[in-house]
Amino acid sequence: MAKTFIAGEFHDSENGEITEIRNPATGELVETVPKGTANDTRRAIEVAARALKKWSELAPAKRGSVLLEAARLIREREKDLATLLTKEQGKPVRESILEIRRLAHTLEHYGGMAKSLRGGSVKLDNGRHGLILRKPLGVCGAIVPWNFPVSLMGNKVGPALLCGNTMVVKPAGTTPLTAIRCVELIHQAIVQGGGPKGVINIVTGPGSVVGEELLRNPTVRKIGFTGETGTGKHVMKVAADEVKRVTLELGGSDPMIVCDDADLDRAASAASVGRFFNCGQACLAIKRLYLFDKIADVFMEKLVEKVKKLRLGNGLKPDTLLGPLHTAAQRQEIEAMVEDAVKRGARVLWGAQRPKGEEYDKGFFLLPTLVTDVDPDSRIVKEECFGPALPIMRVKDLDDALEQANRSIFGLGSSVWTRDISKAMESAERLEAGYTWINSAQIIYDELPFGGVKQSGLGKEHGSEAIDYYTETKSVVIATETKSEAVGGE
Ligand code: NAD
Repeated sequence: MAKTFIAGEFHDSENGEITEIRNPATGELVETVPKGTANDTRRAIEVAARALKKWSELAPAKRGSVLLEAARLIREREKDLATLLTKEQGKPVRESILEIRRLAHTLEHYGGMAKSLRGGSVKLDNGRHGLILRKPLGVCGAIVPWNFPVSLMGNKVGPALLCGNTMVVKPAGTTPLTAIRCVELIHQAIVQGGGPKGVINIVTGPGSVVGEELLRNPTVRKIGFTGETGTGKHVMKVAADEVKRVTLELGGSDPMIVCDDADLDRAASAASVGRFFNCGQACLAIKRLYLFDKIADVFMEKLVEKVKKLRLGNGLKPDTLLGPLHTAAQRQEIEAMVEDAVKRGARVLWGAQRPKGEEYDKGFFLLPTLVTDVDPDSRIVKEECFGPALPIMRVKDLDDALEQANRSIFGLGSSVWTRDISKAMESAERLEAGYTWINSAQIIYDELPFGGVKQSGLGKEHGSEAIDYYTETKSVVIATETKSEAVGGE
């Protein structure tokens, strides 16, 4: 049985209760984990608070070396970690490998920033000098969803640890196993690098218990949260009681616009990968496709050809391109959204059925689905469609496309395909989103800040910007001469 990991040791939950983790492709039991309680969480928070002084006093360069070593340990075990990730999450193993590499890359990115982490200074009046110190926030909670259980954890762990914070990680209830292994490896690097035990801890269990304790416990100074917009709103409300810092990475309904001058073959590939990667369960997946009328029919033909080739199956099979949905409820939700669209007049171009055959009987499989002529008031357009179904709409021109694309409560990513630089720039300016890709698939770069606008989130992860969300600045005034003691003030 996997266990929670607190102060460098594995623990059961205080009441001995467990949760089963099952493979979404087969229903088989993968492992059990402790069903952590509020007390278990408090223990982890206290341990993290005790480790804070020693960890934050290490030079950033040392903390950076720890992150680089952690990345090395994770890369060394890439294959085993990826296999475990596929078993608990369902994604094809080739995607699991990419996710493990992404985690390592993020740790390396922040490890590499260590030597440039500094505050500032300024000369003030009357012989005084001002210093701007960068201080860690303290104990940070990382609350992570099930769709990318380790890379999304890395987005929080990398900057938080570099800045001298200590952490309690709460993985999603259904995907704790790979995260536990990775936290253990990061801990190993910390201790080897001269850090104390308890810098990073992980408590498994329900969001309503473990997550809630992280939100409410006054020792926790910051919550890095990734998950649904509804849960994010709750996180923000509860955090307000303690004026806790929050970074919220929430839901999205990313539009993709294909103009009539676009490279249609490349755009069709990007639409297929962008919608069906991770079985459509990505915050940044393409969730609405807007096609210029003139190219709509030919583009749909190309897209159907791509989608037909997505081989469904158990993610552990090396040739699988599309795994199962993560849970039965998730599949039902997508089916209900497709049904709603069809009732409102949409036409199914491909899919909208469960695949047949013994291989699929026990998993939560759904054929990749394309629906066209979709009413903009359909659920699949207005809500976040977190699965393998894509609504396709025709538009007259760029104005029409941008207006429809922005008609959403979400504003996470967006993409536009055109060879016209004016159309590209106009889209980049007008699309209400934290990211716009032009003639590119949705790839996240550690070099660039990432975070949604509108109800897709608050604050940034990635980039040097993430550092601002894991530190406070503190101003210090040093008087070296006492030319004047005149005081004033705000
Ligand atoms: P979720 O909101 O249900 O759960 C996310 C995490 O919050 C889990 O660990 C869960 O246990 C925990 N949680 C639940 N209730 C809680 C509470 N009361 N207090 C504290 N923690 C609680 O989200 P999910 O279904 O796991 O993930 C899918 C969602 O995440 C989608 O909406 C997706 O778009 C979003 N997402 C966003 C990004 C991004 O970067 N913007 C990335 C990936 C996923």
